[in-house]
Amino acid sequence: MNQIQSITEENLKDFLTCPYKFYFEVFEKKKRSINWRQVVQHVVNKVVYSFFQLPAQHRHSGKVLGLVDEYWSKVSPQIFESRIQYYMVIAKITDYLMENIHTESKKSPPLFLFEKLNTYIEELDVDLSLTFDVAEWSDSSFVIKKYLVDATPEMLVLYNYLSIVFSEKVLKRTPKSVEVVTLLDGKRHVFIPTPDDLQEGLNYLQVMKYSIEDPSNYFKTNNVNECKVCPFHKECDQNTNEFTSKKYLS
Ligand code: SF4
Repeated sequence: MNQIQSITEENLKDFLTCPYKFYFEVFEKKKRSINWRQVVQHVVNKVVYSFFQLPAQHRHSGKVLGLVDEYWSKVSPQIFESRIQYYMVIAKITDYLMENIHTESKKSPPLFLFEKLNTYIEELDVDLSLTFDVAEWSDSSFVIKKYLVDATPEMLVLYNYLSIVFSEKVLKRTPKSVEVVTLLDGKRHVFIPTPDDLQEGLNYLQVMKYSIEDPSNYFKTNNVNECKVCPFHKECDQNTNEFTSKKYLS
């Protein structure tokens, strides 16, 4: 068991998805293949970024449609599992983006737009980084928003705690709410932080850090959808207990 010195939001998400996959990507430096979710998330980020860069009077649902058309045109149907999936994904992403960011048309531009923040967290003894996708700041409120293709309940909890810890530690402010829209099902997940959440968030991140540092507890995901798009089947079949004998963290 070795200590890690820096950790990103991406690392934590990968570890939640499957510790084995995380290991192959991060420590064995095996090539990460691009799957359709990552490509679609990239399109979503481009649309959201471009939309919020527009003056308020130009932020309307027609503009969302135009931006989706522009960025989606570069997406190959080949990366999807089927043609039906390709069409279903574009239809849902377009509908739910229009429904959700359209309501932002009258607001002032966000303070943070895909801003990557990095800070040392003393309680965890680690450098932590997080991207605030959209963060609206005013005298009376601070609201953090994220638009994701999809998210498991564990990822929603992770994002909520990361947002709270970062807001308190870097900006010295408690968010009024943390909102995540998952675009494949159109759900808006709203968290209202309480005074206890900073300590709970630190405890949660501490447990995750210990889990990453102790490979003897790594397990394989039982999410078949993740396995379907995972490039590490061979390594995964071969490898069960080898992690414990390797020194891979610095
Ligand atoms: S095949 Fe499945 S269990 Fe194995 S590393 Fe990939 S996602 Fe994890």
